[in-house]
Amino acid sequence: MLFFNVKSPSEVREILARPTPPPRCETVALDAALRRVLAADVTAPEDLPEFDRSVVDGFAVRAADTFGASPGLPAFLEVAGEVLMGQPASVSVAPGRCVRIATGGMLPPGADAVVMVEHTEAVDERLIEVTRPIAPGENVVRRGDDVREGETVLPAGHRLRASDLGALAGLGILEVAVAARPRVALIPTGDEVVDLRERPGPGQIRDINTTALAAAVREAGGEPRSAPIVRDDPDLLKATVARALAETDLVLISGGSSVGARDWTLEVLLSFPRSELLVHGVAIRPGKPVIVVRVGESWLIGLPGNPVSALVVYEQFVRPLQRRLEGDSRLLPSAGRVTARLATNLSSDPGKEDYVRVRVRRSDAGLVAEPVLGKSALVMTLVQADGLVVIPESAEGIEAGEPVAVELY
Ligand code: AMP
Ligand code: MG
Repeated sequence: MLFFNVKSPSEVREILARPTPPPRCETVALDAALRRVLAADVTAPEDLPEFDRSVVDGFAVRAADTFGASPGLPAFLEVAGEVLMGQPASVSVAPGRCVRIATGGMLPPGADAVVMVEHTEAVDERLIEVTRPIAPGENVVRRGDDVREGETVLPAGHRLRASDLGALAGLGILEVAVAARPRVALIPTGDEVVDLRERPGPGQIRDINTTALAAAVREAGGEPRSAPIVRDDPDLLKATVARALAETDLVLISGGSSVGARDWTLEVLLSFPRSELLVHGVAIRPGKPVIVVRVGESWLIGLPGNPVSALVVYEQFVRPLQRRLEGDSRLLPSAGRVTARLATNLSSDPGKEDYVRVRVRRSDAGLVAEPVLGKSALVMTLVQADGLVVIPESAEGIEAGEPVAVELY
């Protein structure tokens, strides 16, 4: 019988932050690159914009011609012509003259600023008055102001967002080198677990974990590879894990990670040559029976079979690892984090990090987090909740009314 050697969640996070091999790399088109992680720095192949352009509708001028202008003593400028959109200016701006220009128009030669149309009065077709002075460069974006040729636009390790793709499009970058999606093996175990297409017999339960974990893996940028359900049999489990090790970057086994007579995960993982046991048991609730083993450079993780625990452990510990396997260098806290006031007191055993499932609702006084009660064996507690509140190891609880961070999922 193997007993737990329980580690604190912070120790486990440190272990999971150990160096991992660099990700494999692939090239994808821009429209397939959303949420992918750059495998290399992207540098600008050209200046953006490639010409000086106006950022307002108005008149391109020589700023010096407007110095001292006021509503009482306007500067009079002759309109020498117009800049057409998408075309180089055909007229230049001589002293005492201006050229009509629209937002995004190319600044004509001779001009160094653009007066907004709102700050002018038309005297007639060919003459305007400018009612305030303008500084050189005002209302103009210079060539290369956005990005200069050769400059790093985005660094390796950056996960691409909509705005990033827009900037790349603006530079004419049609494809990018990204990290391959980490391949994540999902191995469900348990004599009582049956495929979701089957009608469970007495004492049996449908496989919840493969579907839920596959979705979580995909959501985090990975490529799930589901194995068929493995009976509680060490030889069968070993064969399945060996296959997964050869074909994937991360192996997740659900069930059998505890210390019961039918729990084979630890023994099987330790039976691989060069296997290194890093974690067996974490001081968290739910989710204590977690195993982390490395075989060479590969990571193998035994998750608790209980679906709520498996998902919580995935979110808290495995997802950051999976994202690092993808080369994601920033690992900011989840964007889906809100602050809410706790609706009721929550107690917690010191020495354990607790993950409390909460529903978040709006109130006149801001967001309120209501704990969803119920045993962690009830999968609906996760369904009814919007997120998790983490009660740190050292805390004995949190009082009603206190602000808490809710990690939405
Ligand atoms: P175990 O970690 O193997 O002791 O399993 C803990 C609990 O989770 C047991 O009640 C199992 O029946 C249940 N369980 C294990 N694997 C799954 C699964 N893939 N889907 C749903 N429940 C599971
Ligand atoms: Mg089991």
